[in-house]
Amino acid sequence: MSAQTETPAEPKKLGGDLLTVTGLQKHFPIRRGLLQRQVGAVQAVDGLTFSVRQGETLSLVGESGCGKTTTGRLLTRLLEPTDGKIVFEGRDISHLSTGQMRPLRKDIQMIFQDPYSSLNPRHTVGTIVGAPYHLQNVKPQGGVKKAVQDLLALVGLNPEHYNRYPHEFSGGQRQRIGIARTLALRPKLIVADEPVSALDVSIQAQVVNLLEDLQSEFDLTYVMIAHDLSVVRHVSDRVAVMYLGKIMEIADRTALYERPMHPYTVALLSAVPIPDTARRESRERIRLQGDVPSPINPPSGCRFHTRCWKAQEICKTQEPPLAELQPGHQAACHFPENTTEITIDPMGITAAS
Ligand code: SF4
Repeated sequence: MSAQTETPAEPKKLGGDLLTVTGLQKHFPIRRGLLQRQVGAVQAVDGLTFSVRQGETLSLVGESGCGKTTTGRLLTRLLEPTDGKIVFEGRDISHLSTGQMRPLRKDIQMIFQDPYSSLNPRHTVGTIVGAPYHLQNVKPQGGVKKAVQDLLALVGLNPEHYNRYPHEFSGGQRQRIGIARTLALRPKLIVADEPVSALDVSIQAQVVNLLEDLQSEFDLTYVMIAHDLSVVRHVSDRVAVMYLGKIMEIADRTALYERPMHPYTVALLSAVPIPDTARRESRERIRLQGDVPSPINPPSGCRFHTRCWKAQEICKTQEPPLAELQPGHQAACHFPENTTEITIDPMGITAAS
């Protein structure tokens, strides 16, 4: 398939691994009857392994129900993992209690999708943005009011609007208030759950640019969650494509957008609008059939086989491992795209043919 050519960007200087996730799993039990016996489980996240380097932006992308939001909540430890390990700055935080997590809340923050519901309508902007200082008992130099006004200016809002209420702001401005609150304690890792999807398209780019500027100013590390590959294209260093609780493909941005290997990624990219008319016309749009199957009873073998146009018998029975098919480029598929010289056997051994 054709894909847009990426403009080479100045390479970012990245540090070592800030976050490492191994075999991360979240199964929500389904209980029935008087005795509340467990009769099944929603396999929302089912064995994720990846790492994020200091200063990097890793985007998690996939249709709704793929487990990306649950992953974000696991990383910020708003949810307890069923299995697997989350290591932040070398420390295993997988099962820390709320009290043990409290000091770490300074370092790990979340930006929520909906700027309308994530701000308390009865509180002024000053109270909302200043709340982290009070919660963490931090006394900023010059006082909380000055710190909040500096934060408002930093995110492009008028510091004089300190006493206004959320309803007096537009959607984009409310998301900026949420970002200011997130930045108050100078976190190291920010998990942004669909930070722009509730906003007008015209405002989305402004908020995305703001997040990029803040990243370079404060050396922030982002895990960006999105359902749309076009939104995260310009901010991501690497992208992980998720389907039914698993990573199907993970690669750096250029490789993923220009040489996608997993058929699911190819299908998602074929739906991304291309501004160039000639290339748009030459491109084949792949329409995925049906809905994402239920995570209560995911398909056997490759979870994508019920919707994949390349599926063969083996795909129904043997789950393809997430294998490194090119340096830094992993995909979980028996018959990957854009790679003529590679064959995968079901045991996960990659060989050049
Ligand atoms: Fe499609 Fe088979 Fe690859 Fe799964 S393993 S993505 S069903 S070709």
